[in-house]
Amino acid sequence: MVSELSDFAKGFQAPRNSKITGVYGSQRFYNGKASTPHYGVDYRGKVGAPVKAPAGGIVTMWVPDMFFSGGTLIIDHGFGVNSTFLHLSKAHVKVGQRIEKGQLIAAVGKSGRVNAPHLDWRINWFNVRIDPLLVLKLQPL
Ligand SMILES: [Zn+2]
Repeated sequence: MVSELSDFAKGFQAPRNSKITGVYGSQRFYNGKASTPHYGVDYRGKVGAPVKAPAGGIVTMWVPDMFFSGGTLIIDHGFGVNSTFLHLSKAHVKVGQRIEKGQLIAAVGKSGRVNAPHLDWRINWFNVRIDPLLVLKLQPL
């Protein structure tokens, strides 16, 4: 089911204002072998550092302990546009909750398969992955 929230049309802001340490589409290597490209944007942060909603929406998923992505939160911004936040240590919101752009939603962590704490933010439009840094450049109409 697709929600008719229009939050995505009001523009996005970065979920953290810390340094970006990983960009969308970069190839990663494990033990000399190329693995799947990275489909998120990584922001520096210590465990517990704030994560803010890049746009308003409804919280549709919170799982504290997924194998690869650790604490994983998903926000529906409407018409198939979703944000996913990975490796979180904590969520400050509940599934089904309405949240506004800029609201504190979660805390950075190092849960899942990561070496160091950071925030990994991803955007999907239905099944299509989108570079969040491109979305940040879009201005509301
Ligand atoms: Zn990442």
